[in-house]
Amino acid sequence: MHYDILIVGGGHGGAQTAIALRQAKFEGRIGVVNAEAEYPYERPPLSKDYFAGEKAFERIMIRPAAFWAERAVDMMLGKRVEAVDPAAHAITTSDGTVISYGSMIWATGGSPRQLPVEGSNLPGVHVVRTRADVDRMTDGLDDVADVVIVGGGYIGLEAAAVLRKMGKNVTILEAMDRVLARVAGEPLSRFYEAEHQAHGVDVRLGVEITAIEGDSFVMGVRLADEEIVPAQMVIVGIGIIPAVAPLLNAGAAGGAGVDVDTYCRTSLPDVFAIGDCAAHANAFAGGNIMRVESVQNANDMANAVAKSLTGELTPYHAVPWFWSNQYDLRLQTVGISAGYDATVLRGDPDTRSFSLIYLKAGKVIALDCVNATKDYVQGRIFVTEGLSPTAEQLANAGVTLKELAADLMAN
Ligand code: FAD
Repeated sequence: MHYDILIVGGGHGGAQTAIALRQAKFEGRIGVVNAEAEYPYERPPLSKDYFAGEKAFERIMIRPAAFWAERAVDMMLGKRVEAVDPAAHAITTSDGTVISYGSMIWATGGSPRQLPVEGSNLPGVHVVRTRADVDRMTDGLDDVADVVIVGGGYIGLEAAAVLRKMGKNVTILEAMDRVLARVAGEPLSRFYEAEHQAHGVDVRLGVEITAIEGDSFVMGVRLADEEIVPAQMVIVGIGIIPAVAPLLNAGAAGGAGVDVDTYCRTSLPDVFAIGDCAAHANAFAGGNIMRVESVQNANDMANAVAKSLTGELTPYHAVPWFWSNQYDLRLQTVGISAGYDATVLRGDPDTRSFSLIYLKAGKVIALDCVNATKDYVQGRIFVTEGLSPTAEQLANAGVTLKELAADLMAN
């Protein structure tokens, strides 16, 4: 079996690569090997409206199932790539199939980190990465009154909001001293903690978990002070481990992800990597090497690679953006806030519509906008142009960011 372009992983990045290749009139053979048995679907709704039962699976599919055959994209579902032979330009799948490739795009995302404590594989302990994960959770929900969520990141917070709407008792256990500590500034963390508390969530910070309790099913979560928080369901949302072992075993450079250059090329010949698993120097994070876990990053890397394979070598250079829905709050983020040395609040969190703006060495590097779409849209240019407003100018909600940007760029 041979494909001119073989895509490993049929999530956001893998699907978009195939779509973009056909849009660019690529006529060669395209194959997608995907460990999941599903046609490509959107992952963000898994902790939002799909989990809430407000959107059917068909509505979160990236394209209808028939699309792939119509575009002559061979979907090999329920197969995992286990070994890569870079010299032979070939891979082997879990069922022993050997497939050779002209170029390969590795778009495998990652698998959820497990809690390294006793009891973490008891029935009733869940992770949220795939449709199957969420369907398993939903199936068991009727018998559940108390849910413990481990990890106060976006996925944990979104799941908490959905579960409160369903009337479950929800406790969030966060190891750090605030939620969203890895991705946002303190005012945003405090705002979301207060919102969840106001909705009846028990938010516990600085908590150490020592075990998950239960015999044949989860019954609670034991903390370092010996308290047991009761739970008939535990959801663990503490990040992912990039799925790159076959590539690294084949000699690709990497560690926490697979290393790629500005064209998303790994160190293996004709092998690209994109999306959550690709460690790259991000231009919007001062060139720091990082993995970005977002739909934007997966799609834009896919588009860059598709361009490189059908025309000119094209670097990945796209403004990062992200969103999160919790209760009636819509957070929209532009830029990457990591490494900020100052923040400015624009608007009043008490009104539930405000923006937190991040600066580094006087330049705006990111905005987190809560129910403030205008700031999100108009703030983008501050990030792309590296504008340097004063804190007073940014905080002055009487002047739109559009007007302020125009003013700064004219002077
Ligand atoms: P994925 O979409 O994870 O796809 C990887 C695919 O590769 C998977 O299907 C996997 O099974 C398969 N695979 C893995 N290993 C192999 C192998 N060896 N062989 C074959 N196939 C393999 N991002 C946002 O921007 N906004 C959001 O609101 C948001 N919410 C999210 C909510 C949840 C619950 C989750 C889990 C993620 C969310 N994200 C969100 C992140 C976003 O979904 C990811 O960044 C995006 O899916 C990354 O795309 P990817 O192609 O790199 O990986």
